Amino acid sequence: MLSISVIAAFPELVEHALTFGVTGRAREQGLWRWQGFPLHDFATDARRSIDARPAAGGPGMVLMPAPLDAALEAARAWHGEKSQVVFMSPDGAPLTQSRAHEFACCEHLTFVAGRYEGIDQRWIDQNVDAIVSIGDYVLSGGELPAAVVIDACVRLLPGALGDDDSATFESFADGRLDWPQYAIAPSATGEGIPPELANGDHAAIEHWRRREALLRTWKRRPDLLINANLTLEERAMIDSASTLDNAVKNRLKS
Ligand code: SAM
Repeated sequence: MLSISVIAAFPELVEHALTFGVTGRAREQGLWRWQGFPLHDFATDARRSIDARPAAGGPGMVLMPAPLDAALEAARAWHGEKSQVVFMSPDGAPLTQSRAHEFACCEHLTFVAGRYEGIDQRWIDQNVDAIVSIGDYVLSGGELPAAVVIDACVRLLPGALGDDDSATFESFADGRLDWPQYAIAPSATGEGIPPELANGDHAAIEHWRRREALLRTWKRRPDLLINANLTLEERAMIDSASTLDNAVKNRLKS
């Protein structure tokens, strides 16, 4: 079972986000467990302070090392063994699907959420194994970013999704975006659904899906394809799509 602890000013934000749907069910199934460690509970003064002014002045406040130390010690005791410590920060490495897979292979993870201007650098240097960002923008706290990483990771645990194939055929699984999806409602006519999906020809359906996924990736995220090893057939699919930008098309590997 994957054990996840979260050290944060407001760990209940993380818990709430993960109570529903796939992550909530996976927890009920015993695929993962979690424990929050609220920083204010580990403050050492009567006012339960967790932050202090930045050295040499400047705006905002910085999370102090002492409550973080005590919270990490408590998290380690809960895990029972060493966990990988992941600090959520906009200056970290961007979260990717392959990173989520790496986290899903761990047994013990501790996420640390910053607040205010962030965390004392000395504490980061001494305790943090990985720094992860969920994108090039700044949120007010690391709780939601931690929930995002945990969700991306937990849904990859074997048995978490209704059908484990769902994680195989989805965006980024093979460096492409997903193909368009259509719902077959019991009482609907199917009007507007591409004819390739309606005739039961599995080879034609497979071909349509590969082509749509490739063209969607090309239109929306050409950066994903620049270093991809495209087959001749895939290259032809792109060449035949007239709306594509020739200059970028020429940068594809053949
Ligand atoms: N002073 C920091 C900076 O400029 O990089 C921003 C601090 S932010 C207001 C407070 C906390 O929110 C951060 O310590 C981090 O834990 C979290 N956070 C904000 N944006 C994030 C992002 N894009 N990815 C991961 N964590 C983020």
